[in-house]
Formats: sequence, C-alpha cells, structure tokens
Amino acid sequence: MKTAYFRFSPELAVLLPRSKREGVFSYTFSGPQSVKHLIESLGVPHTEIGRVCANGHRISLDYLVRDGDAIEVEAISYGNGVDEELKGEPRFVLDNHLGRLTAHLRMLGLDCSYRNDFDDLQLIRISTQERRILLTRDRRLLMHKAVRFGYLLRSLDPEEQLMEVVQRYHLVRWIKPFHRCLRCNTPLESVPKAAILERLEPLTKLYFDEFHRCPQCDQIYWKGSHYERMQAHIQRLKAH
Ligand SMILES: [Zn+2]
Repeated sequence: MKTAYFRFSPELAVLLPRSKREGVFSYTFSGPQSVKHLIESLGVPHTEIGRVCANGHRISLDYLVRDGDAIEVEAISYGNGVDEELKGEPRFVLDNHLGRLTAHLRMLGLDCSYRNDFDDLQLIRISTQERRILLTRDRRLLMHKAVRFGYLLRSLDPEEQLMEVVQRYHLVRWIKPFHRCLRCNTPLESVPKAAILERLEPLTKLYFDEFHRCPQCDQIYWKGSHYERMQAHIQRLKAH
C-alpha cells in the first residue's frame, strides 16, 4: 500500500467528502495510480482540475503517484477567456435536467444544445465533436475520459447556475439579448409588426413595436416580461 497527502483549493474542497475538506489529508491506495484517477476517485472530475503539484513541482494528470507524495490540486481557471482550444464565443451542451438553465442562457443569446432525451453518450459526442462545453450536475458524466470541456454545476437553482456559468466562462461580453430562440436555439430575425399583426394579443399590439421571429419554429418575441426579467439578470451578472 502507498499513502499520499492531498490538499485541494477551497473551490474544489467543497466537492470532497466532508471529512476531507479542511487542510491536508492522507489517502491510501494500492498499485500504480495516476494522479487523475486518485483525484476523480475522491469525487472531483478532471474537468475541474487546474494546476497540480507533487512535492512543489508541477505534474501532469498522468503522473503516477508515489508513496509519501504531497499533492496540491488547484481549480481550473479560465483567465480572461475559455481554454485555448475553445477560442471565440463559448457554446454549450446541457444535460437533460437543465431545461431552465438552457432557457436562461438562450435568453442571453448563448448557443445551447439541449434536448430532454439525449443519453450520456450523445451528450459526450456532441461536446467533443462540436466543441461544446458540457454542463451537468452529474460528476460521473464529466469523469468520462472523452470529455474535454465541462463544468460541474454546484447549485440546484437555475438562476444561481446561470451566475456560475457566466462567471466561470466570462460570458458578460457575449451577451446578446433577442438573438436566439428560447425553444429551439435558432438565431432570431427581426420581423415587421405588420407581418405578424393578426397573431398579437390586443395589449401587445398596443404597447410594442419591435418584434423578432424564429425562422425555425415561428415563435414571436418582443421586449415584454421576458425582456424585463432578462435585463434584471444582466444587471446582476454585470455587478459580479
Ligand atoms: Zn425556435
């Protein structure tokens, strides 16, 4: 048997079993084990791992841990953008339980692939093939070795989840209200009021003049209650 001594940064320590969240703890294991495997067996998916050091020296995730090693694990940090391989506007794929977070992100104009019937392998394939960041609360899904880009949502509340994602991926600069259909993710087009007049409720007809339409599913959008909720969101997000 071998014993290594681990310390996790506070953002990651919350993912550990309660008894291991404070300071250094020892971890006993047998056989050759990579540091990635040991960290994941403690409950932290590799998508959350940033710099890792053994005895003060930076190591890669395939480093084989030796008896007596002191391992320090930091959370991944995206600096002022996302990972080098995810240049440009970040895009997402969300697991089946995240319909409300999907709507919030689309309301901000962000590109989100979502269906309530994708299975795990489909989610992983969409993430890798389309270079989409996989958002989920399922640690096991993020521990799948094919997953490169992902984030483990901490909160159960969709609005708090939105804040987490916006902060982690620095999304404030990508916010484009009225850019994307909440139902189907398709970019919206502006549409003249006259073209859709007969579809509007009387009060909407009276108070609004600017409309957008989804060319895919034909849903109509205007700056009504959606918009006010979204503006409140954006102000809160910018304040952080
Ligand atoms: Zn649509």
